[in-house]
Amino acid sequence: MSAGTVPESRTASEGHTMTIGGEAVHAPGAFGVVDPATGEVAEHAPDASRAQLDAAMAAAAAAYPAWRRDEAARREALLAAAEILFARSAELGRIITLEQGKPLADAALEVVGAGVWLRYFAGLETPTEVIQDDGAARVEVVRRPMGVVAAITPWNYPLLLAVWKLAPALLAGNTMVLKPSPFTPLSSLRLGALLRGVLPPGVLNVVSGGDELGAWMTAHEVPRKISFTGSVATGRRVAAAAAPDLKRVTLELGGNDPAILLDDVDPAAVAARLFRGAFQNNGQVCSAIKRVYAPAARYAEVVDALAECARAARVGAGTAEGVQYGPINNRPQYERVGELVAEALAGGARAAAGGGPMDGPGYFFEPTILADVTDGVRIVDEEQFGPALPVVPYTDLDEAVARANGTHFGLSGSVWGTDADRAAEVAARLECGTAWVNTHLALSPSQPFGGHKWSGVGVENGPWGLHGFTELQVIHRSKL
Ligand code: NAD
Repeated sequence: MSAGTVPESRTASEGHTMTIGGEAVHAPGAFGVVDPATGEVAEHAPDASRAQLDAAMAAAAAAYPAWRRDEAARREALLAAAEILFARSAELGRIITLEQGKPLADAALEVVGAGVWLRYFAGLETPTEVIQDDGAARVEVVRRPMGVVAAITPWNYPLLLAVWKLAPALLAGNTMVLKPSPFTPLSSLRLGALLRGVLPPGVLNVVSGGDELGAWMTAHEVPRKISFTGSVATGRRVAAAAAPDLKRVTLELGGNDPAILLDDVDPAAVAARLFRGAFQNNGQVCSAIKRVYAPAARYAEVVDALAECARAARVGAGTAEGVQYGPINNRPQYERVGELVAEALAGGARAAAGGGPMDGPGYFFEPTILADVTDGVRIVDEEQFGPALPVVPYTDLDEAVARANGTHFGLSGSVWGTDADRAAEVAARLECGTAWVNTHLALSPSQPFGGHKWSGVGVENGPWGLHGFTELQVIHRSKL
């Protein structure tokens, strides 16, 4: 475990076990998992040794030949997994709330969403394409599995993002070693335990540990593919580690999504949706709205409408009744959001709502709307990944589009206006993987999701995401 990742370590991980070769496995060491609502270590998770990672990789490799052969069994197993998630949404949701912080209802929804993803992939067909069939030859393009996939996930949607990887990877015929974030390992460990009954041993192995466990995975000789979701900085390390062995990579990285409001926007009508697009999961969403560009003529109205939403938001422990937004997940992130907000305020920005941390234990932060702020300030230029939203005025639309695109990020963005066709034309000019019109964060299992520029390599979801877990093969049969 790398120093500073999680604050405490001891040798027992209570009931939380890893899954290796279909067996429950304890580790020689353990690390503390903090409840972000209290800031205290609440549980311990196994800290996998290198030998245990080797065992997980060996189990995945051993399970691969049989698993890749039986497509019907794979579909059946994914459906059974979906049913388990639907049935266990409350139990898994409580684990997510404990380790991640989000309200219980949102956590249960995350689990149900993961079930929906599993069910979608269980039914997704991968037809063979025939690109030539004449007197000379029959040429087919088929998709083959790759082997063992190493999956590495972040802490914002620990279960859903794991399933975004395992559902298509397993459907395609691959086997997997999954490593969750050290901040949120418990839900993935529990997932591994629950799926021991429906997946053959070795098909899904779940190991937990610190960042260096991820580095060991990416340098390991067994996996042919690394599917990673996390920060740009780590994504670069993953790509570099994959290069010597030419492992395939899918990288889902950070974003700094702009929302551009056109001059015909009705601030009162869109404020609640804009607010949700920015503050869902307490702003800890890769493709949340992270900066709003508002026409100068409507600027005050937009700021006021968003500030009103922020003041009405109910923040508290995820286990408390009626809470809409929980704490920030972890101390480094809590400190980073605080620092970005404080720096903007010191530079002349105005807190139209919120503006700082909340009293008491835990990593609670006031839902914050920052006005009188512009590009060049870090909270506008960088990914804040938390409950603080800068609103930037503009006078010229072309300039607003240029500023929206003037970043290394390119995950997603949105354009808002009463004339939806005009808004769609502006959205088409955004340099990003998903450009929404009059909405934000609308995702589905069939809709490909990925980033342009530094926001990622490859996509997840839909047939395109499935293809990312395959190698293309041409079968060319001569008829001559
Ligand atoms: P992170 O990069 O710090 O960690 C992500 C995972 O990588 C963790 O499991 C971590 O242990 C592991 N890791 C750390 N160092 C590693 C290394 N050298 N080699 C291999 N693995 C290593 O990211 P985070 O703080 O957990 O997550 C927040 C970031 O994730 C934000 O930037 C957010 O935008 C991004 N994110 C992107 C998406 C997307 O789909 N594009 C979705 C969610 C989050």
